[in-house]
Amino acid sequence: MENIGNSAVHVDTGVEKFVMDYGTKVQEIPPKFPIPMKGNVDAVMLTHSHLDHSGGIPLLAANKNNPPIYGIEVAKHLCRLLWMDSLKIAREEKIELPYTKRDVKTSLKNFVPVKFRTPFKLRKTKVTYFDAGHIPGSAMIYSKFDDGKALLYTGDYNTIDTRLMKKADMNLPDVDYLITESTYSDREHPDRKEMEKELVKIVDETLANDGITLIAGFAVGRIDELLLVLKKHGVQCPIYVDGMAKKAITIINQYKSLLKEKDSLDNALENVEYVYGDVMRKRIVKKPGVILTTSGMLSGGAIIPYLRKLHSQEESSLILTSFQAEGTPGKNLLETGRFVYPKENIDVEVEMFVKRLEFSSHIAKKDLFDFAKKLNPEKIFCVHGDHTEEFAMELKHNGFDAIAPVANNRVFKL
Ligand SMILES: [Zn+2]
Ligand SMILES: [Zn+2]
Repeated sequence: MENIGNSAVHVDTGVEKFVMDYGTKVQEIPPKFPIPMKGNVDAVMLTHSHLDHSGGIPLLAANKNNPPIYGIEVAKHLCRLLWMDSLKIAREEKIELPYTKRDVKTSLKNFVPVKFRTPFKLRKTKVTYFDAGHIPGSAMIYSKFDDGKALLYTGDYNTIDTRLMKKADMNLPDVDYLITESTYSDREHPDRKEMEKELVKIVDETLANDGITLIAGFAVGRIDELLLVLKKHGVQCPIYVDGMAKKAITIINQYKSLLKEKDSLDNALENVEYVYGDVMRKRIVKKPGVILTTSGMLSGGAIIPYLRKLHSQEESSLILTSFQAEGTPGKNLLETGRFVYPKENIDVEVEMFVKRLEFSSHIAKKDLFDFAKKLNPEKIFCVHGDHTEEFAMELKHNGFDAIAPVANNRVFKL
């Protein structure tokens, strides 16, 4: 489970077996799945829809294991969108996924919506979902076992407010074992207000040069956040959203109670036009404005035709707002100044003003330590990060019993 992608935590209480998240590593083609589980599971507990947590779930249906999949309701609809998109990408890339559309449908049928702070029982284990503050419908999963011990698996979480989301629910019961994500365990985030100011400054300067600001972000939870930032700062120009974010925003906006302010997206969308089709794409790149689209790491999606058109325009800008994984075109661009996309034979110098601005929805270093101190568990497992070992070491130096489970094959008896 070290590094980010194919997250899965298999729990066997002796009475019941369940898996918390079952994700894929999507930066790799074909995507990497968790190691196969021995036998069937009685339940899947899903923290949130992002593919690194949900992408492997249809594989269970393909293997004729059809357990209930517990998650916050919006996650079901976002999973449908992301799973169907994975199948579409696989078709385009001519790779085969180990599951089909039918398995996606079966998995969606097996979905059991749960509510935050409302416990439910497996056989002997009582489970409660708490709001994780990461994206709409993201949860931390609290399991109270028959022997009285309690485990909290954080999934991805955020302990500061963003424009879109209220921070994670910190009013938690006692925890004996903590499994925490560690995405930013080695650093702090830059100040959020400064990031917002910088984003708006780039947009304004680009507009003054009659250019276009192209903003790349994840479809679920990031582009919506950026729309709220643009709205808050009163950016006045044509604003367009293209790619999968359109559908994701529509789904999320049906669950307004999960947002920090329930009308925030409605208000931000007043100034926004959705882009459909190449005719519209060609039209909108002729005039100054802002275009927000996927994919966040430039590894496909609607951003490709825009980059093809705009890469040589010095007056335009490209802002990367997501984590850039090793080996992705986004990371490569930041390092070399070139946009390389072999699938469409693109290898070009990017003359646009390029900037990465961090609008993370993950907890960062100091807050991770504060969270551990607050819960003060017997044992901490550090997962979902590129520096889990170092994080576990630092926690040990701070008096905790902490460990970074090594890729996939470790069993812990608690
Ligand atoms: Zn996530
Ligand atoms: Zn994640």
